[in-house]
Amino acid sequence: MKQVLVFEAHGDDMEFFAGGTIAKFAALGHAVTVVCATDNDKGSFELSAEQLRAVRDRELNDAAAILGITRVIPLGYSDGDLAYDAPPRELRGQFMRIIRELTPDIVITWDPHAPYEGHPDHRAVATAASEAAAFSHFQNFYPEHLAQGLQTHYVSEHWFFAKSPRDQNKFVDIDDFIDVKIGALHAHKAQMVLTVRDMQFGLEASGLSVPWLASLDPHDYHAVIDKQMRAAGSAVSKRSGLSCQYAEGFRRSRYNGIESLAKDQLIPEDV
Ligand SMILES: [Zn+2]
Repeated sequence: MKQVLVFEAHGDDMEFFAGGTIAKFAALGHAVTVVCATDNDKGSFELSAEQLRAVRDRELNDAAAILGITRVIPLGYSDGDLAYDAPPRELRGQFMRIIRELTPDIVITWDPHAPYEGHPDHRAVATAASEAAAFSHFQNFYPEHLAQGLQTHYVSEHWFFAKSPRDQNKFVDIDDFIDVKIGALHAHKAQMVLTVRDMQFGLEASGLSVPWLASLDPHDYHAVIDKQMRAAGSAVSKRSGLSCQYAEGFRRSRYNGIESLAKDQLIPEDV
């Protein structure tokens, strides 16, 4: 059994790009922990920040249960303000402390090198998490952790997802988990309502005519999300070389590329 640790900025980040893979890890008996950096309180056109914090906290846990996630760690930074409220060194240190406590084999997070990422929270998590995972085995990084009884820890595998991915080298067949992935996304009700409403803003502003979208009650988001996720999974599968119907893709580094020195030896895949 391996320990998988996911760092995300918001409650639904990981589900969009890695929900099927996470569900697969969990179904195969690996332990998955998710760290959610913010309190998710900006993403609604209907609810106050206070209402939204409570709703999204509940939905974060509901979706995690659907995916088979063992543990959720919310850090509670203000949504949208993570990069401004948490100095980079502080956020990286918090992430590194969690890595040294949980000793994950695999860390999954936003890709710090993918282009066109517009959300500052995603960029902040990507940078802090990738650096924390890269340096958690260096004893001179955050030596106060060691003084407090923690040990250094080497993270074997670094998996990155992105909206505009580059250099993906690991694809996962999620045919058996596409329904679970979509179910987890549907559990993020407030965020799914927001997603549809945001599409309607674009439609209204553009003056274009898409009658089914214009007349859709954003609370009836299920069919739209289902269709979008199947289309996305199908597109990844087509470029993956796998023979499955749906896939997810990652840029991945394993053991810092040490495989290239070990001729004719392959590291087995976990998913
Ligand atoms: Zn997000």
